[in-house]
This record gives sequence, structure tokens and C-alpha cells, in this order.
Amino acid sequence: MQLIIDNLSKTYPGGVLALDKVSLVIPKGMFGLLGPNGAGKSTLMRTLATLQTADSGTVRLGEIDVLSEKTRVRQILGYLPQEFGVYPRTSAVTLLTHLATLKGVGTNSRDRREVVESLLDRVNLKDVRHKAVNTYSGGMRQRFGIAQALLGDPQLLIVDEPTAGLDPGERNRFYNLLAEVGESIIVILSTHIVQDVKELCTHMAIIDHGRVLYSGSPSEAESQVAGKVWYQSMTKQQLAGREWKQPILSTKLVAGRPMVRIYSETDPGHGFQCAAPDLEDVFFSHLSRA
Ligand code: ADP
Repeated sequence: MQLIIDNLSKTYPGGVLALDKVSLVIPKGMFGLLGPNGAGKSTLMRTLATLQTADSGTVRLGEIDVLSEKTRVRQILGYLPQEFGVYPRTSAVTLLTHLATLKGVGTNSRDRREVVESLLDRVNLKDVRHKAVNTYSGGMRQRFGIAQALLGDPQLLIVDEPTAGLDPGERNRFYNLLAEVGESIIVILSTHIVQDVKELCTHMAIIDHGRVLYSGSPSEAESQVAGKVWYQSMTKQQLAGREWKQPILSTKLVAGRPMVRIYSETDPGHGFQCAAPDLEDVFFSHLSRA
């Protein structure tokens, strides 16, 4: 089953063009939707999750017309929104059982208990399942969010900016969980964090101002900029009085000194050295040329 998005457009009242003829083919596995804040990621995610409408275009998931057959989509959809909302003083078991009942999972309470226990085990919350979710850390909350999204065995899982605010250890645990889920279903992950896509995704798209700037695999994306990214460590004064004309992709402090990366099809001179391409360069090069 593939998700096929064709020419999807959306303008908000007030005139913001949030999606501009977006076309993407999304296969089974982990798909990363990468874009800066305001790019249109949440708009696309919410449209795919049947929570808002588009102005034009089509979306098909296998045989399902996603934009019109909302009930069918919801039966095979799992969604973890950017803001999951309230975390009550209820245990994970009780809350997930309640959500399972609402979603019509299982035919009786024993069935449901089994589903809930196995999901909490899968997301590694088994030991803390009787603790109230409002006491959970950010990473535990996100894993609980995945457990609720996996109720009912979805074929399509949509997760909107899930790693923002997680510490490195929590992020890793969350990556491992998503990677495992992505082995059998379509998982779409929206993020502004390049590392999320680099570590997890087999396919990706870069979007900005509602437009798809790139779609393909992360490794193809990197090979597109191979030999065209140049770097140099310099002083702040040298950076301020720059003598080269090519666009700066990024400036990062390395041991307190600016490390400048630029995009140039040919050797820019001025002491720059050719860099091994990185997905971050791809991201910034698309944004700087858009
Ligand atoms: P992202 O998730 O990539 O940060 P969004 O989809 O939230 O991007 O937003 C895309 C653009 O649409 C932004 O310019 C944002 O300000 C605008 N936007 C989002 N939601 C609304 C809304 N409900 N009404 C008007 N404009 C909106």
C-alpha cells in the first residue's frame, strides 16, 4: 500500500498559501517530512489525518480516497499530534484502556486488557504502566503517544514533530521504537530536525512555503551536493568581512570558532576545503536556493 498525494493545495482564510501543489508518493517504511517552522508540515499532516480540508488535489491510500472517505481512513490511521494535550493524573493502563474503548478496540474487556498490556510493553512503559501519565518525562509521554496511536493496528501512522524537547537518551529510545513500527506500516514523521530524518528515514521530502523542494532518499539527496559543499574554520572578523560571493549554508561554532559551510559548484578558493556531504547541507542548500 502506498500513499499518493497529488497536487494538494491549501490557502488559509487571510491568504497564507500553506500547501502549494504538493505531490508525493509515500511507500511503506519511515518517511521524513523535513521543513523549517511554518513550512506547512502540520497542515499536510492534519489534512492526511482527516482533521482539516484541502482546497484542491487528491490523496489516495491504496483504494481509499483520503479526502472524502474519512471514516475509512480513520479506521486505519494512527496519529500523534504535535500537542498531545492533557496528561491526566491517571495511570497509563487506565488511560490507554479508556482510549481503546473509545476506539472500539477488542470485543470485550479481556481482549482490551491484552491489547493495552502488549502495547505498553512494546513502547517500553511496562514497568511504569501503573504510574500517572502526568508524572511521565517528555520521552515517556511521547512513547505513550505512540501506544495510543497504535491502538487498532493502523496501516498509516502520522507523527507530527515528535522529538522536539526530548533529551538525547529519550530521543534514541523514541527513534528505536519508531524504526521498529516503520518496518511494517507507513510512518510519516514531520520534523525540523535533520538528525531525525538522517537516523530514521528511508524516504524523505523537504518542504518550505508549502512547496516540495526535494523528494527522494536521504542518500540520493546527499549525493546531489557531493563536491559542492565547502568548509573553513575562521575568526568572527573574517566571517564579518567575507570576501567570497557564494551562499553560506550554515555557521556553527566549533570549539568557539565559527565553522562556515558554503555551497559552490566549483572550488571557491579563499582557503575553503571540500566537505563530505551531510543531510543538513542538503536541507540548507534547498532552502537557500528556494
Ligand atoms: P509547520 O507545521 O511546518 O510549522 P504549518 O502547517 O503549521 O507549518 O503552517 C504553515 C503556514 O500556515 C504558516 O505560515 C502558518 O502561520 C499558517 N497557518 C497554520 N495554521 C493556520 C490557521 N489555522 N490559520 C491561518 N494560518 C495558518
